[in-house]
Amino acid sequence: MNKTTNSPAAPRPAAIGPATRPRAALFDMDGVLFDSMPNHAYSWSHAMTQFGLQMTAREAYMNEGRTGSGTINILARRCWGRDATEEEIQRIYQAKSQLFNALPQAKPMPGALQALTAARERGLTIVLVTGSAQASLLERLEAHFPGFFSPERMVTGFDVKHGKPHPEPYLMGLARAGITAREAVVVENAPLGVEAGHAAGIFTLAANTGPLPDQVLSQAGADLVLPHMQAVAEWFMALPPAQ
Ligand code: CA
Repeated sequence: MNKTTNSPAAPRPAAIGPATRPRAALFDMDGVLFDSMPNHAYSWSHAMTQFGLQMTAREAYMNEGRTGSGTINILARRCWGRDATEEEIQRIYQAKSQLFNALPQAKPMPGALQALTAARERGLTIVLVTGSAQASLLERLEAHFPGFFSPERMVTGFDVKHGKPHPEPYLMGLARAGITAREAVVVENAPLGVEAGHAAGIFTLAANTGPLPDQVLSQAGADLVLPHMQAVAEWFMALPPAQ
């Protein structure tokens, strides 16, 4: 039974945290480390329009983290009453990538560097868990967040069989850090990513860096919804210092 009322969700106590002192922080990338979601939403909705599929920007945010073919098929079923063919998927995804690549590169998310710095200062191992599969990903991370990421502590779209909201990416992230779910914290921004972290049994912080209401993230399973990455940095700073 849903006990949601019309009043906004009460803020949760700041002391809420994972079951034990966290030993690792599993960071998502798009919408968490980079302010790239407006570019993704724009290129998705415009590419879909070229093929007669209507996708609002909100829908792009709701489906953030889903595979390209999964996203295309949701729209195809609704607008065409059938799945897209392999060829259609390829053409739409190519159009989306072209539009995306023509946009200026997304800037780092304000507060992301502070959040990474605070997590590291508190002794946490930092792991990247993204559905993105760009060959130049590490170089880009290194350019903006030097020294925080390394190939052995990264899970990307190349590594997993199931994308978010499946827990596999985060379970793999735990394995990379050599820890259990109770010893980790996930930092996410999107409903499907939150669902994945929650399904992996990990305490999941949602930084609401996009246009969706906080409630969408709470309902997806976020243990705590914070308004931006600066607040995530403050959350890490509030952890007891590393021994
Ligand atoms: Ca994301």
